[in-house]
Amino acid sequence: MHDLKNKRILVTGASRGIGQAIAIDLAKHGAKVAVLATRLANLEQTCAAIAAAGGESLPLEGDISQASTAQDSVKAVVDAWGGIDGLVANAGITKDNLLLRMTEEQFDQVIDVNLKGTFHFLKAVTKPMMKQRAGSIVFIGSVVAAIGNPGQANYCAAKAGLHGMARSAAIELGGRGITVNVVSPGFIATDMTSELPEAAQDAMKQKIALGRPGSGQDIAGAVRFLQSPDGSYITGQVMLVDGGLSLG
Ligand code: NAP
Repeated sequence: MHDLKNKRILVTGASRGIGQAIAIDLAKHGAKVAVLATRLANLEQTCAAIAAAGGESLPLEGDISQASTAQDSVKAVVDAWGGIDGLVANAGITKDNLLLRMTEEQFDQVIDVNLKGTFHFLKAVTKPMMKQRAGSIVFIGSVVAAIGNPGQANYCAAKAGLHGMARSAAIELGGRGITVNVVSPGFIATDMTSELPEAAQDAMKQKIALGRPGSGQDIAGAVRFLQSPDGSYITGQVMLVDGGLSLG
């Protein structure tokens, strides 16, 4: 089921949280997984877990807001494994503040990492995937792109941008057999959400129809489906994996 044998997949932000769960899950299902974080040292735990599961990883470091990180990373994967079948653009940050206090720097940082960083990786995988006439690209969006969230105008703008970028890319690249989709998590228990004030965490949790925060594994299952042959006729879509949070 969902056999990813021989798939070569690059996951950004794979040192912790959702990206780590995705990378380990893909490897457990047979993929070779290139994992990226800001520092190689941060990836030790992920690579050890992949090795323990009998998988193969390729650790990569860099700041995704720099175009050179994407170009160098994709080149490293193609050099090592002869091609690239999948991208999971997961790395992201928050710089929350209410609008009146949000600085231009906070706005730019979040756009540069979450939106522009994903664009750099989308662009970098396009050429090798077009040559192969196959590929699966998944952006990690967010439920708040659709419903908004106080203190996150920068983050919501970046994530909503990903949704539009995925739809456009899906139309452009579909003729070459490349799919582009967004998996949009709801409230997932990671370092990112543990930084939120307790009251904000409680307010989000209360809206979850399934009555519990999600885990990285909840997101990994949806990503794996889109990276597998079973998801190959789905493109330009936003898949909400939010336990019903967005239902109100
Ligand atoms: P997290 O625990 O804070 O992990 C973030 C990951 O991104 C880390 O691996 C980090 O690497 C990497 N990263 C951050 N900035 C980077 C940069 N400039 N260059 C390269 N790598 C960078 O976050 P998370 O909760 O797992 O979130 C993962 C994704 O899901 C994000 O895009 C987030 O917006 C999205 N999301 C999360 C939730 C949630 O509830 N947690 C909900 C919706 C969407 P280092 O370890 O090297 O810093």
